[in-house]
Amino acid sequence: MTTDATLVAAPVADEVRHLATGLLGLSHDLHAHPELAWREHRSSATVATFLGRHGLQVQHPAHGLPTAFRASAGQDGPLVILCCEYDALPGLGHGCGHNVIAAAAAGAGAVLASRAAKLGGRVVVLGTPAEEGGGGKIELLRRGAFHGAAAVLLVHPGRHDQVRATFRAAASYRITFHGRAAHAAMAPETGRNALDAAVLAYQALAAARSTLRFGDQITAVIVEGGTAPNVVPARAVLRAMTRAATSAGLAALADDVRRAAEAGARATRCAQVVEPDGPVYRDVRSDPALARLAEHHLRSLGRSPLPPSPRDVLTAGSTDLGNVSHAVPALHPKLSIGDVPQHSTAFARAAVSPAGDRAVLDGATLLSLLTLDIWAGHDTER
Ligand SMILES: [Zn+2]
Ligand SMILES: [Zn+2]
Repeated sequence: MTTDATLVAAPVADEVRHLATGLLGLSHDLHAHPELAWREHRSSATVATFLGRHGLQVQHPAHGLPTAFRASAGQDGPLVILCCEYDALPGLGHGCGHNVIAAAAAGAGAVLASRAAKLGGRVVVLGTPAEEGGGGKIELLRRGAFHGAAAVLLVHPGRHDQVRATFRAAASYRITFHGRAAHAAMAPETGRNALDAAVLAYQALAAARSTLRFGDQITAVIVEGGTAPNVVPARAVLRAMTRAATSAGLAALADDVRRAAEAGARATRCAQVVEPDGPVYRDVRSDPALARLAEHHLRSLGRSPLPPSPRDVLTAGSTDLGNVSHAVPALHPKLSIGDVPQHSTAFARAAVSPAGDRAVLDGATLLSLLTLDIWAGHDTER
């Protein structure tokens, strides 16, 4: 850390503490009103309004997406983009803790807005919808929302403190089996059972798992499989997801998915159609220089980030920030909110616990300090 940064660290943390009531109110408000991907109308409006009140210029909607916003401060100098995620999970509310992400980025935006002109930097707090499967940031990347950024940052709540969190590349598929309906008792011989095709394909995917390489993964669910037990199902739908350390590794898994679909269809004399089910998420490339700065700041906040391990890939999820991180320098640290697994009701509870609240405030401080580092001329490495 430079002398400049040391001088600003304490005032930044003080300023975040000053904003604590508003930030934690925002975090808990988002948590109490969970909205699914692409439908985050209230959530995006709530965060955008908060940023407008704290001196940022707000566009909402932005980039042609109804639940995206863009809140800016500063006229020239290096541009740092802070991402706000705010989508929830079906049946789990904020089981991924995106309320913490949004409140932390909003807090940093509020701290930085008053300093941008003075220090010669620019900050954008970008409202990025639909992280959970919708690939909102991939769409925003395509629309130029990250153009010209010196760095793109977000903090995500997690089990442990991690500066260089590992994320896998992921591809999603929708496999539709087309059979022929028939009376299941009076004329079964005229039917073609699409549910049987889906079940066989599911089993083929399960068998393929035993031959996967380290870090590769295939998961699947049958989401449609008929309507009545006395009718041979004419249609069934299986959704599958593959993950690998990098997007290059997804190709072999795509073959597994296609072969499983063919096996189910051939055995049952049904037809099958395999389609992409959303965009491909790439792995995350953590900028090494940003990671070193973040590690220092987290230690100064009393946190002990875990060093990256090759085994992290075995427990890694996926994020649409991966695609962004291949285009511009990026960092996606995780801040612990307790030793509970993501995508669970326990994690949803932790996201508004004292540990969740602390992650909001530490996250806002970390994002502010990293932005000030970049404004002060610390280079990223790509
Ligand atoms: Zn998630
Ligand atoms: Zn998440």
